[in-house]
Amino acid sequence: MSFRSLGLCNALLKAVAEQGYATPSPIQVEAIPAVLSGRDLMAVAHTGTGKTAAFCLPVMQLLSEGSSPQAKKVRGLIITPTRELAAQVSASLERYSRHMNIRSAVVFGGVRIEPQISLLQEGLDMLVATPGRLIDLYNQQAFNFDQLEILVLDEADRMLDMGFVDDIRHIQSLLPSNRQTLMFSATFSKQIKSLATGMLDNPLLLEVTAANSTVDTVKQLIYSVDKARKSEALIQLIKNNDWHQILVFSRTKRGADNLVTQLKNAAISADSIHANRTQHARTLALDGFRNGSIKVLVATDIASRGIDVDQLPCVINFDLPYVPEDYVHRIGRTGRVGSTGLAISLFSEDESKQLQTIERVIGRKLERQIIPGFAPSQKAPVDSSDDDLYGNFEPDPKPRRRDQPQGWAGHGRKSTNKKRKR
Ligand code: AMP
Repeated sequence: MSFRSLGLCNALLKAVAEQGYATPSPIQVEAIPAVLSGRDLMAVAHTGTGKTAAFCLPVMQLLSEGSSPQAKKVRGLIITPTRELAAQVSASLERYSRHMNIRSAVVFGGVRIEPQISLLQEGLDMLVATPGRLIDLYNQQAFNFDQLEILVLDEADRMLDMGFVDDIRHIQSLLPSNRQTLMFSATFSKQIKSLATGMLDNPLLLEVTAANSTVDTVKQLIYSVDKARKSEALIQLIKNNDWHQILVFSRTKRGADNLVTQLKNAAISADSIHANRTQHARTLALDGFRNGSIKVLVATDIASRGIDVDQLPCVINFDLPYVPEDYVHRIGRTGRVGSTGLAISLFSEDESKQLQTIERVIGRKLERQIIPGFAPSQKAPVDSSDDDLYGNFEPDPKPRRRDQPQGWAGHGRKSTNKKRKR
């Protein structure tokens, strides 16, 4: 399967080739022709499946075929739950549209609104926005939805988790009804179904990687350790393995900050990313993590959404999330686009319940080990038979799944085709 056979125009084919994408991912194969045909879409896919290109490419093509935007009007709107994701989607749009005449911009809170009002003055083909700032701009009459043709809701499940449901419903009430709508979500919960029912018209349903299953290419380990010694254990793991780009998840903002202090005290460069940090601080932390000046990025679940750093070799759960789906999202940050990754969880006895729920949800018992010198004082269910995995981790030479197209491996696919709208 090639990008050309999906019906994309030459300008987009050129941009895709420049990105080095040889083959479309499974979700791109399904979504691109459907969106080009004008159909609504409900896609269950998490980050790492190529979902951003799956909606950006066809949406840009459709918009490039229509008329230009009028002043203070927006033709395509992508709503994301977080600022980081908004910035990343916008950067993807820019890369993909470099050979097209598409005017796009990104707006989110935490920064001055005036420059965003100016951006909207002449009208835009594409606007990427977080819900709160979008509504602020609308209320200030910086733009209106009269010319809106396409709406994309990215990571809709996270928007609901973050309490944006009323904002989304409010925005929905302002939109023209003859628009095309695409919804992406990592899970297909009852709430998402109900949101989708109200917003989508006879959508094509796509599911890429069962929402609650973990990616095949990630080696998952549980290290049993006393709660009080977790930071010490983490520091030793990082030093012994000489890891250089580690994403560490913390359940709380305070926990993230404390951990950063302890890592810095141990001469490991670290920074945090969570909701209490300013936009500027978050951007600096992400940039430092990307360019290698920061070795460890400690993130809370919400802030971690949308962190797209290719080929992360390892993610560490400093503590286990209460919501098992968050575990799936967390470990989805490694082993992306066919590369093998490692996900380590530092597990203390008080987290037994969370671990059981995670194992139930992913349908798999996770391998438990002890870090030499860190045997927990409290008894934990441990299987230390695989000791060679401690120490320098070598990527697992597990073969790729055979049924995947070359150039894109590791994600299963299931789709339900329904009748097309156009
Ligand atoms: P996403 O799921 O949109 O967050 O994309 C995950 C990563 O996959 C991003 O770094 C994309 O640049 C990359 N990507 C998207 N489509 C392809 C493709 N067809 N081939 C290779 N990489 C891709």
